[in-house]
Amino acid sequence: MTASRIGIYPGTFDPVTNGHIDIIARGTRVVDRLIVAVAANPGKGPMFTLQERCEMLQQQVERIRNGDGSRIEIRPFDKLLMHFVKDIGATIILRGLRAVSDFEYEFQMAGMNTRLDPGIETVFLMASERQQFIASRFVKEVALLGGDVNPFVPAEVAERMRRKVQALDRRFA
Ligand code: ADP
Repeated sequence: MTASRIGIYPGTFDPVTNGHIDIIARGTRVVDRLIVAVAANPGKGPMFTLQERCEMLQQQVERIRNGDGSRIEIRPFDKLLMHFVKDIGATIILRGLRAVSDFEYEFQMAGMNTRLDPGIETVFLMASERQQFIASRFVKEVALLGGDVNPFVPAEVAERMRRKVQALDRRFA
C-alpha cells in the first residue's frame, strides 16, 4: 500500500472566501489528506481572531464534507510554516494563484521554503475564473465601507462580517 499523501494549505483566511473554498475543494483531489493551516499572523492585524477564522473554515468544510470532506482538517499554527509542515508529516504545500500579481510573492516564498526543506514540494492551484479575483483584503474593505460581500464569501461569513463591522462602528461612534 502506498503511503497517504498529506498536503497543507496555509493562509491567514481572514476571512475564508469563495476563492479559498474553491482551492480547498481542488486540493482534496490532489492529496489524500488536506490540512488547512490557519496562521495566527497577529502582525497582519486580522479582522477576525484565530478562533473565529478557524470556526468559519470548519463550518464551510462541513459542507464540502458532503462529498469527501472527511479528509480535510482545520489546524491553527503560530510557528514557522516549514516546522509545522514537518510536525504534521506533510510533503506538499498547496497555494492558490490568482493574477500575475501573486506570482512574485509566491515564487519567492516557494523558493525560500525549498531551501529550508528540499523534500517539500509547493503545488499551485488556480481557482475557477469566477473566484480568481477575490481577495480577503478587498472583501474586508468592501464590508468596512458598507458594501455587499455576499458575492465573495459564504452567507455565514457575510453575516459575521456584518456583525463585526457593526461592533467596530459602535466602538468608533
Ligand atoms: P496569505 O496571508 O498567506 O496570503 P490568504 O488567506 O490571503 O493568506 O491566502 C491563502 C492562499 O490562498 C494563498 O496562496 C492565496 O494566494 C490563495 N488565495 C486566496 N484567495 C484566492 C483566490 N480567490 N483564488 C485563488 N487562490 C486564492
